[in-house]
Amino acid sequence: MRHTSAIYPGSFDPPTLGHINLVNRALGIFKRVVIAVATNTTKASLFTPEERVELLQSIFKDNPNVEVTHFHGLLVDYARKRGVEVLLRGLRTNNDYEYELQMAFSNKSIAPEMETIFLMTENQYSHISSTLIKEIAYFGGPIKKMVHPLVEKAVRKKIKKPKP
Ligand code: ADP
Repeated sequence: MRHTSAIYPGSFDPPTLGHINLVNRALGIFKRVVIAVATNTTKASLFTPEERVELLQSIFKDNPNVEVTHFHGLLVDYARKRGVEVLLRGLRTNNDYEYELQMAFSNKSIAPEMETIFLMTENQYSHISSTLIKEIAYFGGPIKKMVHPLVEKAVRKKIKKPKP
């Protein structure tokens, strides 16, 4: 095996069962997965990067092959610093495809040694997104089936009561 580690970057605001499933499946391919929480420049976030790191660390606390970190700046710079050349991303919809293709092309043009690999979502997670979870939670709806219990608790705590 030439590559032992992959970096899985994302906002993870909050982490979902879709993200967790992707990490667990990637561990069937790579020895180590480094989850890299990005500072969002375009989306307003519910959790701080530190809170997102803490949630992911708690979720994967029993798995020594998963590391959770936080990075600023360009992903490829961070990957180079860590000596990792595989970027892992997930695909759900056509929209994901368009966006991910553009990202993969631009990362390739900046850092030709990097390879982006994609795992397709599993059917039962295909509708799950962090944005959707936040929307449902804002209006007091159930998010239990979409997130880890720790995340459910944290989201509920952040989003108190919906405005009438
Ligand atoms: P970003 O803001 O960088 O897109 P996200 O946290 O929304 O960060 O997603 C990180 C990665 O995980 C993206 O590649 C996204 O397509 C993928 N992803 C998100 N939700 C799912 C899911 N339910 N199944 C598979 N992949 C997913």
